[in-house]
Amino acid sequence: MIPMDHYRSTAHELLEKISAGQASARDIEESLKARISQTDPRVKAYVRLAEQNSSDCAGVATKSGPLAGIPIAVKDNICTEGIETGCCSKILGGFKPPYDATVITRLRAAGASIIPSKLNMDEFAFGSSTENSCFGPTHNPWDLGRVPGGSSGGSAAAVAADEAIMALGSDTGGSIRQPAAFCGVVGLKPTYGRVSRYGLIAFASSLDQIGPLTKDVHDACLLMNVIAGPDPMDSTSCSSQPPDYTRSLVQDVKGLSIGIPKEYFVEGMDPEVKEIVREAIKKIESLGAKTKEVSLPHTQYAVPVYYIIATAEASSNLARFDGVQYGLRSSDKRQITGSKLIDMYKHTRGEGFGPEAKRRILLGTFALSHGYYDAYYLRALKVRTLIWRDFKNVFEECDCLLTPTTPTPAFNIGEKTDDPLQMYLSDVLTISANLAGIPAISIPCGFTRAGLPVGMQMLAPAFKEETLFKAAFTYEQATPWHTMKPKL
Ligand code: GLN
Repeated sequence: MIPMDHYRSTAHELLEKISAGQASARDIEESLKARISQTDPRVKAYVRLAEQNSSDCAGVATKSGPLAGIPIAVKDNICTEGIETGCCSKILGGFKPPYDATVITRLRAAGASIIPSKLNMDEFAFGSSTENSCFGPTHNPWDLGRVPGGSSGGSAAAVAADEAIMALGSDTGGSIRQPAAFCGVVGLKPTYGRVSRYGLIAFASSLDQIGPLTKDVHDACLLMNVIAGPDPMDSTSCSSQPPDYTRSLVQDVKGLSIGIPKEYFVEGMDPEVKEIVREAIKKIESLGAKTKEVSLPHTQYAVPVYYIIATAEASSNLARFDGVQYGLRSSDKRQITGSKLIDMYKHTRGEGFGPEAKRRILLGTFALSHGYYDAYYLRALKVRTLIWRDFKNVFEECDCLLTPTTPTPAFNIGEKTDDPLQMYLSDVLTISANLAGIPAISIPCGFTRAGLPVGMQMLAPAFKEETLFKAAFTYEQATPWHTMKPKL
């Protein structure tokens, strides 16, 4: 008999069941598949599901390693050998990478199996709602009329809906943390350089990081233990060896000094979110932490600086999608002007990119263009340094920071699609961590009266993921939020 509720478990629970002989890799895969076919037609976390054959689970029973028997779901911008990876963009339609991203190589070596359907996302990770996917939106498991957040919306929704045990996402300006908050799961953006970006299809190379989305803090540590560490294939990966993150799973925040940045409790913020995060602050104080108000005075510049740097880097990274090397090539034979090759580029890019990708390519190209470079891009880099310096100063007076992850709970599907600026503003609390390169985690800290999850964010100095894990674990174990499940 197959115990069919394995899908509800965390990875650390399943690893215990496996070692006690109460579950096998095959049972877990069967259970998860049954769950996916039951709920994904409504949630739509996975893309290309119809093409899903049996995973590479065959043979997993004989594998060993710290994640042996655990299936991992992967965002559609992380390369998986022989498994279509398209950034949920038409322009990469049909692209099967000839190699694995370093994180995937490491996961396989750790005994994990890779789910062959990929997770939905905003096209090229441009967005905050997963509505910019060429496959259509993912639905928030807590309220199917709402967005799951983005761009790793498929990753967060799959974990929240128990359609994945754990998932990988990527975070350039909040794309792991914001969907984690909207869906009531744990999401970590590691320090820039802690996890290899080799095989991550680049959005903004100075900001991108791969990270875990999981059901609890313990699982985030397990996943980081496998994916973090130096990689000769990524020259920006840090050469120091990461610690064993599970050592941070201790319930102790006594004497921990937590800064509460006043700029993160802004006017116009949803009052329920504010109230729930204020409660969380009281809770962590009652567990022994000391909090104090601090200031990050350049916070107001984070959104404009980000949208210059991120679009500039994106416009340059996306230049390679020209119909020659990867994915789609337009078959449009119309001749407009110029050479045939230029026409082929034009048609391919015109047909292949969605409206948000085009908007960002145009914005980024403008910011980098002759005559505007100094006024926009160069100035943005200078202000980025001021934002980085704000954090440096504040971490001289405290060990970590605590803020809301998002100014509002999950919004309705379609609510912000006509107003890109409103959409960009929903990243106001997550973007600074990427600009400064520091680690940040989002964990569930309560629910609104309408039953929507709210996330709190903690930020620490570079390479201090352990501080985040320790504080997050202590809070999590003293509260019920991570155990709550949406009714599906
Ligand atoms: N929402 C932000 C954007 O649209 C961040 C996206 C991300 O982190 N990939 O750029």
